[in-house]
Amino acid sequence: MRAAGKRIAFAPTMGALHPGHVSLIKIGLAKADVAASSIFVNPTQFAANEDLATYPRAEDSDLAKLEAAGCSFCYCPSPTEIYPPGDSTRVKVKDLSHILEGEVRPHFFEGVASVVSRLFLHVAPDVAVFGEKDYQQLLVIRRMVQDMGFPIEIVGGPTLREDDGLAMSSRNAYLSAEQRAQAAGLSHVMRETAGKLEAGESIRTVTQAAADALLVTGFASVDYVEARRADTLAPFGQDTAPVGASGRLLVAARMGTTRLIDNMGFVRR
Ligand code: AMP
Repeated sequence: MRAAGKRIAFAPTMGALHPGHVSLIKIGLAKADVAASSIFVNPTQFAANEDLATYPRAEDSDLAKLEAAGCSFCYCPSPTEIYPPGDSTRVKVKDLSHILEGEVRPHFFEGVASVVSRLFLHVAPDVAVFGEKDYQQLLVIRRMVQDMGFPIEIVGGPTLREDDGLAMSSRNAYLSAEQRAQAAGLSHVMRETAGKLEAGESIRTVTQAAADALLVTGFASVDYVEARRADTLAPFGQDTAPVGASGRLLVAARMGTTRLIDNMGFVRR
């Protein structure tokens, strides 16, 4: 395809595909001639106590979904293709990797940047598509691509949601029926909170109220509820977003033992 001068779009995944992943392929196809994906459950982004061993795997049905979406290639490397014997190189994106998700999962973005940089070298796409579902990850990748000079256009795709508002995620499969029903509360609380932030209410008050509401909804614990600047994820530095500012509300919370993350944009009126 490259020799034929085709523009190649790439959407990497960890498999267990849902319509959110498929939407990234469609976005890629609108930006390029052919689409490629990858399925690789990346060991370096999981800590020892996380769900690497139990992460859902469904390669056959994943490949069928990719093909149906118009994806021409899927790279399914073995761990040693990505991390050859004796491997000791890692990619660290400073600052952005150590706040929010990076505070709770200190290993996480180093694993992501290390695998994505290798996938970029192996696949050599012109365009790469990442979901806003993992908003901080999208910013980390943009930073890495800019800093290392990868000749790749990074495109963000909107978060696809279930009918009740729950952001689609491979990890939703871990939820029992009761937990699944309660988990819908996350997007409802977030939507309400984003509305208050748009209206200029106190960031401290509304994020604390959101955390309390999540616990009432049935979440076992809340790692963070934060309203940050959309472009850098830096705090606003004052208790209301300035008029016209673009913000991002970001949440991580546990439903039982399943950790769910979600985020929404808001613009202060
Ligand atoms: P994952 O397989 O979870 O590593 O995700 C692979 C890609 O799909 C990442 O760019 C995610 O941000 C994206 N993604 C995951 N869930 C969604 C969703 N609900 N909507 C859109 N993109 C998503």
